[in-house]
This record gives sequence, C-alpha cells and structure tokens, in this order.
Amino acid sequence: MDTHATRRSLLARAAALAAVPAIGSVVADTALGSPAVAADATDLPDYAPVPRSSLGPAINSQGYYVGRIKRNLYWVTDGTYVSAFLTTRDGVVLLDAPPSLGHNIQRAIDDVTKPSGLTNKVTHLIYSHHHSDHAGGSGIFGRRVTRIGHSETRRLLIRDNDPNKPAPEETFDDHRVLHIGGERIELAWHGANHTPDNIYIHLPDHDTLMLVDVALPGWVPFANLNINEDIPGSLLAPAKALKYPWTTFIGGHLGRLGTRHDLKIHQDYMADLDTEIRRALTTVDATPYFVKYGNNTWAAVKTYLDEVIAVASRPVVTKYTGILAAADVFTESNAFMLMESIRLDGGFGMTVHD
Ligand SMILES: [Zn+2]
Repeated sequence: MDTHATRRSLLARAAALAAVPAIGSVVADTALGSPAVAADATDLPDYAPVPRSSLGPAINSQGYYVGRIKRNLYWVTDGTYVSAFLTTRDGVVLLDAPPSLGHNIQRAIDDVTKPSGLTNKVTHLIYSHHHSDHAGGSGIFGRRVTRIGHSETRRLLIRDNDPNKPAPEETFDDHRVLHIGGERIELAWHGANHTPDNIYIHLPDHDTLMLVDVALPGWVPFANLNINEDIPGSLLAPAKALKYPWTTFIGGHLGRLGTRHDLKIHQDYMADLDTEIRRALTTVDATPYFVKYGNNTWAAVKTYLDEVIAVASRPVVTKYTGILAAADVFTESNAFMLMESIRLDGGFGMTVHD
C-alpha cells in the first residue's frame, strides 16, 4: 500500500469534512469553537474499518475528485458529498451544488471542459431536493443560471429564504423532460421519501439515475435513516429507482458512485432491520423498566426502547460489518427511526384498549 498517498487522501478527506456545513459543521463547531472541551482522540470509541469497496477514488490537493460517468456526464466528490454535471454545446447542466464542494464544482467543470474546448459556463442547475447540504452552493452560480426543481422544492426554498439556495423558477409536479444542448434529462417525483420534494433524475442516454439521501452506496444511512421525513416512502424508493433502466447510481454520498447491486444491498439491510425490530418488539419484556421507573413514564419508555433497539441492531450490525461501512456507527440510530415508523405508520403493536 502507498502509505504516503493514503495519508494524503486521509488529510484531504479531513479537510473536506471540515468544510462540510451539514454533517461537518457538527465536527467543526465543536472542534474549533471550544478547544477547552476538545475530546482526546484516544478516548473516542473504535469502529470497524471501512471496507475498501465502500471507498471512492482519492481526492486531489484542492479537496475534490472529478470523473467521467459516461460521455459528457461527470461526477464530482469531496469524499462525503457527490454532485454531477453534464457538459453540452450550449452550457453546463449542474445536478445539485453541495456547499462543501462549493467553488470546487467550477474547478472540476474547468478541468473537464478546458481540454475539450466546450463552454465551462453553468447555465442550468437542477435541485434534487431543498436541503442546504446539497443545494447551498447554488448561490455561487449567480442569477443568470436557470434553476429547475420540484414545485415543493420551490415552496420550501422560498420558506427557507437563504440566498445560498435560490428557489427554482422552473418547476414541475410529477414529470418533466428537459432537452438542453441536445441532451435529455427526465425528472420525476414519485411521492415523498427522504423529504417531501426529493426527485428522481434520470439520464437515459447516460444510463444513470440520481436519487439523493435514500441509499448511500457502500454505506449505511446517516443518522435517523438520513434524517428521514417519510419512512414508508423511503422504503419504497429503491424499488422505484430500480424500475428505471440504468447502470450508474448517484446517491449524493459518500465518495463513490453506485450500482444496482448497491441498491439491493440497501434494500436487504432495511428488510433485515425491519425483521429484527418486529422480533425485538415482541420478545423484549417491558415490565422491568416500568417496575424500576414507576411514574416516570419517559424513563421507562426510553430504557425499554433502548433495549429493543440494541437487541434488534446487534445481528444486523454483525451481518453487515465488512459489507456496508459504518454499520456499527449508525444502525441503532436508523433502527430507532424504523421502529417508530413500524409502530406509528404501520400500527405494529398498537392494541386497542378494551
Ligand atoms: Zn437531504
């Protein structure tokens, strides 16, 4: 192994993470804001190593990697976030603008367009959804870019009123086909999932589908099932994605692209978690928690549900360690969200009083 290159990419990843506003700000704020309470790294918990298959290519000294997906479709990553762009004879179409990539997006576009002589000017920006960690670099591209997104994305971005993520002027409700610079891009909304406005971006001539913050190739979802707003919708989303013809998947995270197999592994992980949660809800006895905490209902409920989650997560973590990165980091958090959906959406275990 080239340890020098490994160390370099590690440092670059750390630099990229420090610049990530959404997930990274948690890290940056605590680490930089109050050094007096900074944890000693040696006291921090150990986790299973990240499988090699979950890692993407090394990023450069500027903190990004740009690669070709097919013909004039490219992807760019900082190791944590992924966006993509299409170079056309009329201009560049950008798919999301994560602020952690920020000005590196234009650098990546310049890297690709300079040798080809194509224009490097971003003329269109398509939003996958309204979240700032994927949309908050949009403001960099100014007022002359045509922004396109779901009608709900427009409503939410007007609500958020953030100059870094201007609302799209061009919207759609269910389907919209774009023809830009001779290229075809199909946008579709198939119901709420991660957020109410999250869309499917299909590039049929590039065999690629983009669906952000649902299935993250090579990794388990981020905390609370990717901060999920509609869990039944998110559970159905991978099957909807797999109905499209494609070979390359853009999930918005972490440092690599995905395959159809990655979506199937994600579906398996969610199905196994579902099975284990239902089992734990029926086998873990709640009695001792209520005996111990008496009238402190929340203490009893919390400690009981913590045990349900621990019991449900254990076999799933064991099964997916070495297959999905960070199974031991976020499975319990994901299990909590799924358990609440199984109860609150699915009605599991809800007995009606006599
Ligand atoms: Zn999101």
